[in-house]
Amino acid sequence: MDEKEDLKKIEDKISQCRNCSLWHYPKAVPGEGPINSRVMFVGEAPGYHESVQGRPFVGAAGKLLDQLLGSINLKRENVFIGNMLKHRPPDNRDPLPQEIEVCKPFLDGQIKAIKPEVIVTLGRFSMNKFLPEEYISQAHGRVRKINYLGLEQILFPLYHPAAGLRNGQILEALKTDFLALGRFLKTVTIDSGQTNNPSGLDKPKEEQLSLVN
Ligand code: URA
Repeated sequence: MDEKEDLKKIEDKISQCRNCSLWHYPKAVPGEGPINSRVMFVGEAPGYHESVQGRPFVGAAGKLLDQLLGSINLKRENVFIGNMLKHRPPDNRDPLPQEIEVCKPFLDGQIKAIKPEVIVTLGRFSMNKFLPEEYISQAHGRVRKINYLGLEQILFPLYHPAAGLRNGQILEALKTDFLALGRFLKTVTIDSGQTNNPSGLDKPKEEQLSLVN
């Protein structure tokens, strides 16, 4: 089975999707990143800039995300960045339950194709996809193991960068949690010695040894 092809097929389906009313926004934003990404970031939904460019997290929240990734030496091009919704809700309103439901197969398909070892959720909507009962104010920055779609994964819930832009306390929590994420990613990677990248995150998956037990 060719996972790269699966990912491409999902992208094609996203661009043709008419299952909710959001499809007429300029561009779909399927998400981006290598098929062998070990870490997947999941946001909420594209905003204006994302829907113009067809790329995730390229507006103000994206700039903060880039800085936070930089703070732990994680390269954007080595991780997958996607969203719960693939089209922009009007005026950046919260996603509706029905929109989340109809868009779910796309993100689930991406998770199945990529099989990331660590899923980092950004904000309460994406956290609630995996942990429906929890509150972001309590769960942020706390790592846990989950089994989703029959895959063992590590979930790392974080506040949404847009919330950090609105609230200084959340921004501090986000910075602290990112540093914890960086430390965590180092502990779970056993470097195979083929690269001088200490986190090993830009290695092909087959060269990366396993994460936590
Ligand atoms: N906010 C999100 O949740 N996703 C994006 O892609 C941009 C902003």
